[in-house]
Amino acid sequence: MIRIALLGATGSIGAAAQALARAHPDRMRLVSAAARRNADGLLRAAKEFGIRRVALVDAEAARGARGRFRGEVLEGEEALARLAEEPGVDVVVNALVGSAGLASTVAALRAGKRVALANKESVVLAGELLARVAAEGGGTIVPVDSEHSGLHQLIEGRDRETIRRVTLTASGGPFLRRDPSTLGGVTPDEVLRHPTWSMGERITVDSATLMNKGFELIEARWLFGLRPDQIDVVIHPQSIVHALVEFVDGSVVAQLSCPDMRLPLLYALAYPDRWESALPRLDLASLGSLTFETPDPARSPGLAAARRALATGGTAPAVLNAADEEAVGLFLAGKIRYVDLVPLVEEVLAAHDGRGTLTLEAIRDADAWARAKLHDAAAARSAR
Ligand code: NAD
Ligand code: MG
Repeated sequence: MIRIALLGATGSIGAAAQALARAHPDRMRLVSAAARRNADGLLRAAKEFGIRRVALVDAEAARGARGRFRGEVLEGEEALARLAEEPGVDVVVNALVGSAGLASTVAALRAGKRVALANKESVVLAGELLARVAAEGGGTIVPVDSEHSGLHQLIEGRDRETIRRVTLTASGGPFLRRDPSTLGGVTPDEVLRHPTWSMGERITVDSATLMNKGFELIEARWLFGLRPDQIDVVIHPQSIVHALVEFVDGSVVAQLSCPDMRLPLLYALAYPDRWESALPRLDLASLGSLTFETPDPARSPGLAAARRALATGGTAPAVLNAADEEAVGLFLAGKIRYVDLVPLVEEVLAAHDGRGTLTLEAIRDADAWARAKLHDAAAARSAR
């Protein structure tokens, strides 16, 4: 029986984790759960799964929850890491969004846990550091991001020297066929209509700019120890092939499955085992065709920005993430235009100089700096 701390229980990946806990009560048990401020959603999950320890980042939400919950309610950001390192936990499912997820990934790895990691931002921010922390604490990461789950399934146990390159697929988002010159006036609603995946708001916006795929490049680089030039991206609108590996002899092996996040999550929990599941099965004949194309730079500005941040290294990826997180928030609030989103992030990235040693403190500083800088840049742009 795997004992799980579910961080980000009320989100899209959190819901997938709850669905798995419902389907596999004989194999996994949720022992704690956390969310930012959705006390109703969190307490509903606590009741259904008999969870006795929950955490809410928002203090007011935590106070409100205490009156209606018989178990323990922790509060504040530090509570996330506390749940992650608890002795009674085997696996931490990190389904938090944004840089808020980093501290609990670090805490879990230090405490020797397995982290089923959906929070790709942890790796974007601190990829270089996480490997060290994991080695010291004895923890391991099994990725939940579908492309990286695919790569994990393709690469684990193989000699890295036999790998020539890997390819991550991208759906291309809602604007794949749209004339880029018409993107000026797109609304948040249009951006939030993702063609193949149903996800949280931030990752959905990041999928339209391909910033999400940019983050995934950085994630692949650190999770699998690949050089940036070994990682390609190809557009695959059907989202059936998630990742491919080309070996030195020229053979290419791919991972395929229905676009359903419960599967990579299930894999991360069961690994190295495989559990029987009732998840949707792939039927290639009924799909008919799978297509692939090269990303168009005009529709995928996030990719180039991420490649630049990766090449700069140090705290540049943390700056990229924080600036993007703020820019997405401003766009969703109607304060900046869609087409200004990535250019603003680029502006912040270009103003950043930070090749120093990567420490958690340097990451925190860079994160705070980038958020403030993004708001300045956005204000300057709207004043023009
Ligand atoms: P979501 O917005 O649906 O849910 C986010 C969860 O994190 C919620 O439970 C929320 O309460 C919590 N949260 C948000 N901000 C927080 C903060 N500042 N502090 C603490 N908790 C906070 O997001 P999601 O789509 O489930 O994505 C979660 C993570 O998984 C992200 O890193 C995303 O990139 C990654 N991911 C998601 C999908 C997907 O299909 N949704 C696929 C691949 C990777
Ligand atoms: Mg992905």
